[in-house]
Amino acid sequence: STARRVAVVTGGNRGIGLEICRQLAGLDYHVVLTARDADRADEQARSLDASCPGEVSGLGLDVVDGPSVDAAFRHVRKQHGRIDVLVNNAGIAVDGPEHRPSSPDFTRIRRTLETNLLGAWRCCAEVVPSMRARGYGRIVNLSSTMASLELTRSPSSPAYRISKTGLNMLTRTLAVELDGTGILVNAASPGYTRTDMSPDAERPVEAGADTPVWLATLPGTGPTGQVFLDRRALTW
Ligand code: NDP
Repeated sequence: STARRVAVVTGGNRGIGLEICRQLAGLDYHVVLTARDADRADEQARSLDASCPGEVSGLGLDVVDGPSVDAAFRHVRKQHGRIDVLVNNAGIAVDGPEHRPSSPDFTRIRRTLETNLLGAWRCCAEVVPSMRARGYGRIVNLSSTMASLELTRSPSSPAYRISKTGLNMLTRTLAVELDGTGILVNAASPGYTRTDMSPDAERPVEAGADTPVWLATLPGTGPTGQVFLDRRALTW
């Protein structure tokens, strides 16, 4: 089992993140299911581990807490000696239709950017050195069609939109930096998927997790630096 690829997923305790963990464990990965509540991570990891071909272990990781991120990745490197896949799934949506860019609530905006953009960025920085050293890596960032210039006709949720547009550009710039290293960096929109974040959506988590898992398991021929919805590149 030392040959198993190791995948770290943030926000793995519920929603799309939990389903990404389930699907990767189904493909025989060793999944490190992380959550800001370490007990929830352990609990969900134990239950997946018992029902999937791969292995699943739980770990505490709060993406806004630098020392927590640092300690978590140090632990994974020590335990496994490798990190093949990072899925930056953790995200919050704390502004909505009532929020407008002309009346900014900077407390919410800061929290959103800290989690959705800087949290993912911090995790990327943690995994790049070890991925580079092994010449293999897959980084997947959970984005949204709400990040799209083309599709945006509403002034709602400006913090969320801006955080995900920023994440798309982080995806692109990191992919360009890492071109030729064996590390592929892409973003996935899961589509409007029924979770605690979007309870009215119809798409089941199995479908929402499909494109992220596909990108996490891409062959070396690419693609890299792009944003995908339903396995198709999006112009954003
Ligand atoms: P949920 O609200 O169901 O789950 C969010 C997950 O992120 C939870 O596990 C939550 O942990 C975790 N999280 C939040 N903040 C932190 C943090 N600081 N550190 C670690 N984990 C954190 O959302 P979804 O499953 O629906 O969304 C997953 C991703 O997909 C998000 O990035 C979201 O923006 C994106 N997305 C979702 C869509 C949808 O329709 N559902 C559409 C487009 C994009 P905790 O349980 O502790 O709160």
